This record gives sequence, C-alpha cells and structure tokens, in this order.
Amino acid sequence: MVTFEYVEPGSLKEACDLLERHPDDAKLIAGGTALVIWMRLGLLKPGVVISLEKIPDFSYIRHSENDGLRIGAGARHREIELSAVVRSRYPLLHETFRKVAQPRIRNMGTIGGNLCQGDPLTDPGASLIALDAEITLTGSRGGRTLPLEEFFVDYYETAIRPGEILTEIHVPPAAKGLGWAHIKFLPRSEEDFATVGVALTMRAQNDHCEDIRLALNSVAPTILRARRAENVLRGKKITDDLLQEMGNIRYFPISRRPASCASESTMETPCSRPEIRAAESSAAWPSIWRGSLAGGSARPSSWSATRRRAKWSRR
Ligand SMILES: Cc1cc2nc3c(=O)[nH]c(=O)nc-3n(C[C@H](O)[C@H](O)[C@H](O)COP(=O)(O)OP(=O)(O)OC[C@H]3O[C@@H](n4cnc5c(N)ncnc54)[C@H](O)[C@@H]3O)c2cc1C
Repeated sequence: MVTFEYVEPGSLKEACDLLERHPDDAKLIAGGTALVIWMRLGLLKPGVVISLEKIPDFSYIRHSENDGLRIGAGARHREIELSAVVRSRYPLLHETFRKVAQPRIRNMGTIGGNLCQGDPLTDPGASLIALDAEITLTGSRGGRTLPLEEFFVDYYETAIRPGEILTEIHVPPAAKGLGWAHIKFLPRSEEDFATVGVALTMRAQNDHCEDIRLALNSVAPTILRARRAENVLRGKKITDDLLQEMGNIRYFPISRRPASCASESTMETPCSRPEIRAAESSAAWPSIWRGSLAGGSARPSSWSATRRRAKWSRR
C-alpha cells in the first residue's frame, strides 16, 4: 500500500515552509487531476502531499482597465471559462478554457496545476503566451515574475525552482481591437487532448499586420511561441503569399500525440489562411469577430484536420 502524509497548510507562507522542510519528498496538490494519476501509476511516490486548497485568496479572478487580468493559481478551469470579465475582455481565454477536457475535469483542475505540470499537450499555456502573460512564483524568500513563454523548459519540465509555488498569472490589458483565433485540432472527440493547438493574437490595420503572437501546443516537447512564423507577417501587408510562407514553416511534432501522426517527420505551421484572415478581420472589425470566429474558420478547419488524421490512422 502506498502511504504518504497529507497536509493542508492555511497560508502561503506555511506551504512554502513545508516545501522547504521536505525538499526531496513533498509534492503540491491543487485539483489533483494530474498528480493523482501519476501517483496511481507509481510514477511519483511523494512522502508528503501538500494541499493548496486551504490557502486563502488563491483562486481569484480580478480585472482592472489599467492593470489587466490577474488570476490566482488556484482558480479552476471552469471558473475562468465562466468568468464574465474573461468572456468579455479576454475571449481567447474563454474559448480556450471552454475547450479544456470536459466539465468534470474543468471543475477540478486549476490553472496553476495545468501550467506547472509542463505537459506540452495542454491548452491554456499557448493562449496565455499569445496574450503575453507573465507569472509569479513565490518561495519562502520572496517572489519573482517571469514571462510565461520562458516557463516551459522541456517535456514536463518548467522553470519552477524547488520550494516555489506558482501564485499568480497576469495578463496585460488587451489592446483595443486585438484580433484572436484559437483552434484545437482534435483526434476524436471534444474531450481529447489537442492533436495540435493554435493560439493567435494580432493587431492589424488596413490589411497590414502591426503585431502578431502565435503559440502552439502539442507540436513539440514544450508549448512554444512560433516566432519564425510570426516574423514572416509582422510589419507587413497581409497577402496570400505571405500566409502560405508562414504556413510552410515547419515544427517538429512529438511522438506522444494522441492521433496517429507518427508517419509525419515534420509538420507545417498548423495555422493557415482562414485562421489568419479571421484574426485579421477580428482586429479590423472587433464588433463582428466573435461571431465570425466562433462559427467560421476555426471549426471547419478542425473538422477537416480530424478527418485527415482519421485517414492516416486507418493506413
Ligand atoms: C481526462 C483528462 C483530460 C484532460 N484534457 C485536457 C485538455 O483537453 N486540455 C488541457 O489543457 N488539459 C487537459 N487535462 C489536464 C488538466 O487540465 C490538468 O490535469 C489540470 O489542469 C491540472 O491541474 P490540477 O489543479 O488538477 O493539478 P494537480 O494534479 O493538483 O497538479 C499538477 C502538478 O502541478 C503541481 N502544482 C499544482 N499547483 C501548483 C502551484 N500552484 N504551484 C506549483 N506547482 C503546482 C503539482 O505538484 C503537480 O506536479 C486533462 C486531464 C485529464 C485527467
């Protein structure tokens, strides 16, 4: 029988002290949707499990015009998905969290646990990188912030240091008229992990791309920012040729992807004309983009990708 001590610290300081006291033997648990599976599989055998459940003020969602959005690491996926301010001010996040797993997981899993497991198949990291988010890590000697895109170091490896707890995610104020797109290519059902995840934000005026941030999940050992693809378009007039060039940039898929894509050695940037055009139009006409993206480009391309993958897996 596996035995471990289970502790529920009542403050952040207490949790940090516990981590310091058990440097090699303790694991934090938030929603437990990942940790419990690893423990059941025998991949992790912590002697001490430290719950974050009783830490006060750990799951807030706060917004102000000047500062943007601040989310406590203990906020559950479902709380973020249903937040009115997230929905109205950061629809890319609403769209992303809506697509994480299914409601049972979303009711348990937290944003902090999601990011800290460093799983490249997970969705929120890419959208948060596309929105230029930064995170705060707190230890018994104080806190530090870093851009989220620097947090994912390798497969299931993050920049978190021993003794640190992820406490907050900060998303800067969304620029007026910022266009966005989120596509989750799925192998089978909506509850699956993404075969490829694409998160995009763009500022565009009169067919001219002023700025673009593109992040991908499920394509490499980490969630990544696709800078090479961004650079093709940034500062230029958006033309079909440039979109084609952007789409031709290749990223390496990882072998543990759920759909059978093992036969591919490389993969093109999974973001092609319709998605960019949709983000472009959303940048130019903010009032209509919600509808056009929700019912427009994202779905058909996900579906056709699903069909393509189904064909590959039958081979
Ligand atoms: C069936 C299923 C389907 C899923 N589908 C998706 C999906 O479609 N998209 C997606 O993105 N994800 C998906 N997930 C993953 C899910 O989102 C994560 O399991 C969840 O977000 C992890 O959060 P948690 O609070 O449960 O973390 P836990 O399991 O509690 O912890 C995970 C890891 O993070 C550490 N940790 C937790 N909180 C902190 C913190 N604040 N600071 C430092 N370390 C911390 C823990 O020590 C542990 O190592 C799925 C999971 C399951 C089981």
